[in-house]
Amino acid sequence: MRVVSITNQKGGVGKTTTAINLGAALAARGKSVLIADLDPQGNASTGLGIDAGARGRTTYDLLIDGAALEDVAIATEVENLSIAPATTDLSSTDVELGQRDNRVFLLKDALKQSSKTYDYVLIDCPPSLSLLTLNALVASDSILVPLQAEFFALEGLSQLMLTVREVRETANPSLRIEGVVLTMHDARNRLSRQVEDDARANLGDLVFKTMIPRNVRLSEAPSFAMPAIAYDPMSKGSQAYLDLAQELIDREVQTMEMS
Ligand code: ADP
Ligand code: MG
Repeated sequence: MRVVSITNQKGGVGKTTTAINLGAALAARGKSVLIADLDPQGNASTGLGIDAGARGRTTYDLLIDGAALEDVAIATEVENLSIAPATTDLSSTDVELGQRDNRVFLLKDALKQSSKTYDYVLIDCPPSLSLLTLNALVASDSILVPLQAEFFALEGLSQLMLTVREVRETANPSLRIEGVVLTMHDARNRLSRQVEDDARANLGDLVFKTMIPRNVRLSEAPSFAMPAIAYDPMSKGSQAYLDLAQELIDREVQTMEMS
C-alpha cells in the first residue's frame, strides 16, 4: 500500500482536482484506490458524489473516535475507487487534538489498523500546514505537490519543504517527495512557461514530465459528481491525469528495481 499526500498549503492550486482525477486514473489502470478527504471543506467527497447527508462516519471519526477505516470508506460510482469522506466537523480537530500525545500519529494508526488495504491511498490535504496536514505527512510514504503556474508558486514550496524536514526529523524519517506536478498549465502563457522553466531548473527530475493543462472539463466534472475521467475520458484534462498515473506507476517500478 502506497500512501501519498496531495499537499500544498496554498488553496486553489489543484489539490482536490488532482486527488479525484489521479485517483480515478489509477483506478482505471487497475489499481485499488482510496481517497482520504482531510479537508473540512469536503470538496473531494462532494466531487465524487457523496452528498453531505450520505456521509455516515467520516475522517473526523477516524482521527478523533478511533473509527475503523472499513466503516468510514465508501465505494464511489467509479470501479476500484473509494473515498473516506469529510465534513466540516474536521475543522475543530486542531483544537480537539491539541493536547493528545499521539496527535500527529492518528491517521497513520488508523491506516495501519485497517484490515482493508488498497494499492494507493491519496490524501487530499487542506490548504494549511495544520495538524491535519501533519497527520497526513506522518501517515504518508510520499508527498505529491500540485504547483499552479503563478508568480509566487515556488516561494510557497520552501515553507512546505521545511515542514517535510521537520516531519522527517521527528515522526516519519522515510517521507519522500514523490514529485511536483504543474497544474492549470497553459503553454501559450508566458508566466506558465516561466514557472515551468524555473521549477524544472530548480527541482529537476522531481517535476513530473506530465503537466495538467487548464481544461474546462476538469472544473465542471465535480458538478456532475464524478471525475472528469468518468465524464469525458477523451478530454485533455482526463488524458493528462491518465498520463500522470502512468508516470507515477513507472517511477515506483524504477524505485523498486534500484533498491
Ligand atoms: P485546491 O484543492 O488546491 O484548493 P482545487 O482542485 O479545488 O484546488 O482547484 C481550484 C479550482 O480550480 C477549482 O474550481 C477547480 O475546478 C479548478 N481547477 C483545478 N485544476 C484545474 C485545471 N487543470 N483546469 C481548469 N480548472 C481547474
Ligand atoms: Mg481542495
